[in-house]
Amino acid sequence: MAAKQKTLEDAFYETLKDVFYAEKQSVRALKKSAKNAESDELRQAFETHADESANQVERLQQVFEILGKPARSKTCEAMQGLSAEMEEDLGDFGETPAADAVLIASAQAIEHYEIARYGTLRTWAGQLGHQDAVKLLEDTLREEKKTDELLTQLAERANSQADQGESEGVESGSGRSGARGRAKAK
Ligand code: FE
Ligand code: FE
Ligand code: FE
Repeated sequence: MAAKQKTLEDAFYETLKDVFYAEKQSVRALKKSAKNAESDELRQAFETHADESANQVERLQQVFEILGKPARSKTCEAMQGLSAEMEEDLGDFGETPAADAVLIASAQAIEHYEIARYGTLRTWAGQLGHQDAVKLLEDTLREEKKTDELLTQLAERANSQADQGESEGVESGSGRSGARGRAKAK
């Protein structure tokens, strides 16, 4: 039998490298999102999560240490694709009334990828008996979920502004004051 046996420990290490790459990329995506956000609260949310994500990168380095293996990155095709889509959306919708709605949508796609990956890593770490790694991965998973929920909240206002063709800074008070179908300046 020439084929090397691969185990869950191997899968865990390979996936950790993928997430290490993805997390570093997400810091860049969040900074770019913060720069392009129209509303102050959305910019603040992106800046806060960029800081959290830098800390998440450090947690991943600690997980590599727990494994006793070098902290390496492996290109994550998924995160590359999600980042490319974000760039495309920024090009198409940046500085329009739909900018924040589209930015939030891109950011949530990234958060959902992270949630999927950290959920798997957390479960595998438990199966492999790396309890300290479980704790670190749980902490990060909680931050990703919390960010996703915050973005869902912020999307309400952004979506309604995008729908009504209003730009940020025009305080609409309460209720649907904007006329639907108003000509949208591009
Ligand atoms: Fe993250
Ligand atoms: Fe990946
Ligand atoms: Fe995140």
